[in-house]
Amino acid sequence: MIPSLDQVLRAELDELAASGLRRELRRIQERAGATATIGGHALLNFSSNDYLGLATHPALAEAAARAATDLGSGSAASRLVCGSLDIHHELEAELAAWEGSPACLAFSSGFAAALGTIPALVGPDDVIILDKLSHACLIDAARLSTARLRVFRHNDLNQLAEHLRWADSLQATRRPRVLVVTESVFSMDGDTAPLPDLVKLKDHHGAWLFLDEAHGTGLFGPARAGLADHFGLASRIDVRMGTLGKAVGSAGGFIAGSTTLIEFLVHRARSFVFSTAPVPAAAAAACAGVRLIRSPEGLQRCTRTWSNAHALASAIPGSTSAQSPIIPWILGTETDALDRSLRLRQAGILAPAIRYPTVPRNKARIRFTVSAEHTPADLAHLAAALQDAARPPA
Ligand SMILES: *Cc1c(COP(=O)(O)O)cnc(C)c1O
Repeated sequence: MIPSLDQVLRAELDELAASGLRRELRRIQERAGATATIGGHALLNFSSNDYLGLATHPALAEAAARAATDLGSGSAASRLVCGSLDIHHELEAELAAWEGSPACLAFSSGFAAALGTIPALVGPDDVIILDKLSHACLIDAARLSTARLRVFRHNDLNQLAEHLRWADSLQATRRPRVLVVTESVFSMDGDTAPLPDLVKLKDHHGAWLFLDEAHGTGLFGPARAGLADHFGLASRIDVRMGTLGKAVGSAGGFIAGSTTLIEFLVHRARSFVFSTAPVPAAAAAACAGVRLIRSPEGLQRCTRTWSNAHALASAIPGSTSAQSPIIPWILGTETDALDRSLRLRQAGILAPAIRYPTVPRNKARIRFTVSAEHTPADLAHLAAALQDAARPPA
């Protein structure tokens, strides 16, 4: 008998479960500050990407509610048809001013921004060189582009240089476009890219740089606009991408760059052209989020997040300093990570195990993140729970 769809899928799911890779959705009943209530238990949440605590901030919720009341719940069409509302243009102007770039384009998610932009810029005659730890959306976008792919070891600029020399040597009817793709802050390791040297290197080879600032936005630099802002390199990075769903506290993604780049993407980024515009509430909340980050309250929140990150780093076994609010406790096997995560949960801490395929096999970990909403008492509670969870299983 030919197996049915469900039989085929069930067999695959059973295999995942057998290798400790079964996943489930944790249903959150309530959120307040850094606390999430699951199954009636209030847990201290150390796993959110809401680094500045803006996702539940009243100013953003009010902006979203007002936009829904004034403009409606939906955007009704893609931006190019009749969905380009004032609030989208306002958001893009706010983002461009913040990011110190001539122009910005908003997408419905960071994933969509990457998926639309990278294949618009390079094609089959071109080359993409990607950091090994790049996010799934960058890998998928690179594959979708059909450009030739080369991967360099994480943050290894020597290997990147080798790939760039290889790309320079390619014979073709036209000079191949070469796009280097990396992240400013790596989502599962919390370390940062060596941006100044990276920029020098790509300039030396006349390559373009696509920088995913998903975990840098809101946290680095005098304007808190990202790692490029921190190094004063915004104008030298060809394409910068960010999300509005993490530190900005709403949903959506954006590309920052030249007016020519943005005009080109309006024509060529398929996830922009062929997708309904972000809903007014999300755009309005993002706009309010950016304004808040740029305000004195934004500075205070960012400062709290960083001091929490340093406190967290000193509590995690084997970790020394915080390069970002993401600090992994790398354990190795899937079962070890699951076991420690369960013990933390019994101590009132929400910090899920991160497993393959989100991280490489045998690099299973608990990924901790902090936000501006964590109090010193929250961090002390985590430190005590970690001491317990660090003991070998009974
Ligand atoms: C979360 C994330 C994205 C995707 O952004 P969304 O707005 O959530 O779609 C892209 N890149 C990295 C590194 C991320 O962590």
